[in-house]
Amino acid sequence: MALPLETLLDTVSARIISAADELTALDSAIGDADHGLNMKRGFEAVQADKAGIFAKPPGEALKAVGMTLVMKVGGASGPLYGTLFMTLGKELPENPSVADLGRALQASVTALKARGKADIGNKTMLDVLGPVAAHLESGSASIESVRALATESAKATIPMKAIRGRASFLGDRSIGHMDPGARSSEIMITAVCDVLE
Ligand code: ADP
Ligand code: MG
Ligand code: MG
Repeated sequence: MALPLETLLDTVSARIISAADELTALDSAIGDADHGLNMKRGFEAVQADKAGIFAKPPGEALKAVGMTLVMKVGGASGPLYGTLFMTLGKELPENPSVADLGRALQASVTALKARGKADIGNKTMLDVLGPVAAHLESGSASIESVRALATESAKATIPMKAIRGRASFLGDRSIGHMDPGARSSEIMITAVCDVLE
C-alpha cells in the first residue's frame, strides 16, 4: 500500500496534542507529570517543520520526524520515540505490505529495547509497540484487530509493576495505573489505524 505519510503525521500529531492533559495526568500518578507536555511540544515542533520534513523522500522524512522528537520531546520518551521514527524511516520500503509494517515496527522495538535497556513486561511503551509489531508481522492483521490489540495492551500495563523509567522508583506503588507511554503509543497506533481504514 502507498502510505499517506502527511495525513498519518497530521492525525498522529493532532491526537497526541489533544491528549496532552490525559497523558500528563497518567504521568502525574506514577511519574513527574510531564509526558503530555513533552509529547505535545514534540509534535507541535514536527507540525511547525512540516515543509522541511516533506521536502524529503519518505524514509528521510520519517528520520527527520525522529530527529525533531529527540530534540524537542526530551525526558525518557523523546530519545525512544525518536528512535522509533528514525528506525521506521530506515526500514520501511516504499509501498509496504502489512508484514513490512510489522517488520519495520519490530526493528524499532529491537532498537528501543537496546536504547532503554528494557523489555516487554517492564510497564513501558514497549508493552504496546511489541505486541502490535508481532501481530502485524504475521501479515494477516486486520485494522480492527490492531486497534483492539493496542487498546488491550495499554490496559494490560495497569496491573504491571514498573521495572524501567521513573515509575520504577515507586516499586509496588506503580501497580494499578496505566503507563503513560503505553497510552501515547496506543493513541498513535489508533490514529494510524483510523487513517488507513
Ligand atoms: P520522563 O519519565 O523522563 O519524564 P516521559 O514522561 O516523557 O519521560 O515518558 C515516560 C514514559 O517513557 C513512560 O511512561 C514509559 O512508557 C517510557 N519509558 C521510560 N523509560 C523507558 C525505558 N527504559 N524503555 C522504554 N520506555 C521507557
Ligand atoms: Mg514524565
Ligand atoms: Mg520528565
